[in-house]
Amino acid sequence: MAAYKMYIGGEWVGADSYFDTIDPATEKAIARFPLGDRKHVDMAAGAAKDALPGWSRTPPPKRGLILQKAADILRIEKERLGRLVATEMGKVLPEALGDVQEAIDTFEYFAGEGRRLYGHTTTSELKDKFCMTIRRPVGVVGLITPWNFPTAIPAWKLAPALVCGNTVIFKPSSDTPLCAYEMVKVLIKAGVPPGVVNFVTGPASSVGEAIVKHPEIEGLSFTGSKATGEWITKNAGLKKVGLELGGKNPIIVMDDARLDLAVDGILWGAFGTTGQRCTATSRVIAHQKIKPRLLSALVTRARMLRLGPGVQKTSDVGPLINKAAQEKTGKYVGIGINEGAKLLCGGNKPAGRGFFFKPTIFDDVSPDMRIAREEIFGPVLSVIGFDTLDEAIDIANSVEYGLSSSIYTGDIGSAFRAIERIESGITYINSSTIGAEVHLPFGGVKGTGHTREAGIHGLDEFSNIKTIYIDYSGKLQKAQIDVD
Ligand code: NDP
Repeated sequence: MAAYKMYIGGEWVGADSYFDTIDPATEKAIARFPLGDRKHVDMAAGAAKDALPGWSRTPPPKRGLILQKAADILRIEKERLGRLVATEMGKVLPEALGDVQEAIDTFEYFAGEGRRLYGHTTTSELKDKFCMTIRRPVGVVGLITPWNFPTAIPAWKLAPALVCGNTVIFKPSSDTPLCAYEMVKVLIKAGVPPGVVNFVTGPASSVGEAIVKHPEIEGLSFTGSKATGEWITKNAGLKKVGLELGGKNPIIVMDDARLDLAVDGILWGAFGTTGQRCTATSRVIAHQKIKPRLLSALVTRARMLRLGPGVQKTSDVGPLINKAAQEKTGKYVGIGINEGAKLLCGGNKPAGRGFFFKPTIFDDVSPDMRIAREEIFGPVLSVIGFDTLDEAIDIANSVEYGLSSSIYTGDIGSAFRAIERIESGITYINSSTIGAEVHLPFGGVKGTGHTREAGIHGLDEFSNIKTIYIDYSGKLQKAQIDVD
């Protein structure tokens, strides 16, 4: 089995010991990666600090050209990398290719930002004075990524961080280091200079925590669990921190909705990526009048979904990421049954190898049950009934998260009421809770964190706005005082 290395200051670096990355469909190890530690984070921070003056002074259009080259290489490598995503992370091949496509789109989008990186010009309250803002890099930034989008999420962070002129320490999830390694290789091939991107693998308890606490690191961007996000907030000191922490995303189905559309959207949102998206649909809030018909269609279709390895063409639903995720999903099914919810389908893992779990639907869920409030991150859907739109929106808002949401309705008024009142960063109308596009902002409210990634707002996480006043009056002018 191949053993890979970390990449620090332009050199490939090994470690004393290694860990395995596993194919979740077969439970077999596919590659070995160094168990990095604090010493490697120190080395990476030093290299990133040394590279910062050169990179931050490289003209942004030139930085953008390197990102464009990375997009071009990714496009050539898409099929191979897609298969790797399907193997190491487990999602089915069309979704795995979509993961790589999202990385391509992201690099292309932020390549273009190299020729924009807009600030503002504005007026002054004084004569002969000019005011404007520009973007400056944050400095050395730590990027800590999860496994569920093993190429797309690193791209979401790497591309804006680099175009803004930051240097980077990238720590991937220990479940998907091979996809991350491939991304680093693409960036090297595209021409990123030594020290600008440093890649350190190893456990959260050493590498992750050292990045969070490191005094030379000015900024952090994290996607993962709420618990880790809270820990980072407490331990990052005064760093600029971006957090994207998941959701408990609802689809409201009104009695005037097109049920065929709603069924397609719910199945895609709940069981796509085996429910392991931060935007996954985990709650359906269904009008009592249509709930029986909706449930009957959902259960019939959920039972038809074929479980199998991500790389296999006939698979509709791949495995969960690891044994812990499989056990956690099983535990939540037990919690749901004990709380009095009605299990309609699924509820267990199939026989055989792999971290698979059957698509699971619960009816008779009430908003206060744990399966209606907590992020399971598996293929488990909770269905809750309602009678009025106000009640449905109150249920949608009754959780601590606020990432994505959706309403299926034929009534424009209901759609706009939902847009206004649902507490979430994203609301879809007549479409599922998943399907972000890279040129629009992505992020949440409440317990999801308040950061926006992607789109033009994605630059804010990786740049500081600097305000410039240019006084050409030739005398001392005092704001707020020389007002007459
Ligand atoms: P974690 O939040 O534990 O891990 C995500 C990333 O953070 C990984 O790279 C991990 O490293 C790293 N990390 C963990 N703890 C620390 C720390 N204290 N300091 C610095 N870095 C840290 O998520 P898991 O992968 O364990 O998944 C658990 C749950 O999190 C899921 O079931 C789901 O509910 C949620 N989640 C949400 C995601 C989202 O998209 N918002 C994505 C993934 C998970 P390492 O891999 O080495 O442990």
